[in-house]
Amino acid sequence: MANALDISKFEVGSAVRGRAYVREGKTVPPRYFVEGDLILIMDDIGRYANIGKEDAAILREKNSTGSGKAGIGTARTRGEVIKKLFDDGFLYKEKAKGKKSPIVMPSEKSIALYEKLSQCGTAKVLISPEMTAKWETGLTMIERGEITPAQFMDQLYKFIMQLTTDMTANPTNPYFGKPRAAAGDGTVKSNCDEKHPKDGQLCDKCKDGQLLTMKVVKKESSAFGKLYVKCDNKKCDYFGEFIKL
Ligand SMILES: [Zn+2]
Repeated sequence: MANALDISKFEVGSAVRGRAYVREGKTVPPRYFVEGDLILIMDDIGRYANIGKEDAAILREKNSTGSGKAGIGTARTRGEVIKKLFDDGFLYKEKAKGKKSPIVMPSEKSIALYEKLSQCGTAKVLISPEMTAKWETGLTMIERGEITPAQFMDQLYKFIMQLTTDMTANPTNPYFGKPRAAAGDGTVKSNCDEKHPKDGQLCDKCKDGQLLTMKVVKKESSAFGKLYVKCDNKKCDYFGEFIKL
């Protein structure tokens, strides 16, 4: 395949000089990723996601590994991000037939989260590498003295406020919106006897409720049997800190 054309470099209407031929074959589905692929993907997300030219240029320029590829995260944080995705039950590993390394699969929870985010106007950017590009642009503007850090933070704050409003407006997904109906007397109850290390602590999010141990009871969930904490304040939607027993 030497001299193969990279058709992504052509636009509709461009002229191509060369010989063309038809080759018969069958398409093959993309191979599954293994854990080691993830860090490489974060460094080269432009290959996997459709990013606008300008944003891709920013990501290439700002890639902290210096690889010159359009990447997300920083060299230091990528490993942490991936670990957290596994720890929080967004990704899991599965033994694949005839493969030495287990393949990486998205859990039901992460697919639900992705779908929810992709339906929400403001939140769409969260599942796009362009988010990183926008933040990098903001940081560059601070560097150049074009905006102050306070202005940047102000914009960020407004964005997060808008996002939160949009996300909580439609409580159809268990991971967003209001907590599910509480026990008859209105108090939120734990669904297990075990105690999470954070049980009883003050909720960092609302600074009002207390964290309560919960257990993932959905058998289909990759986090099945794990403990997590949720806030007992009905107005607060904090949940997280998944741990294995
Ligand atoms: Zn709370």
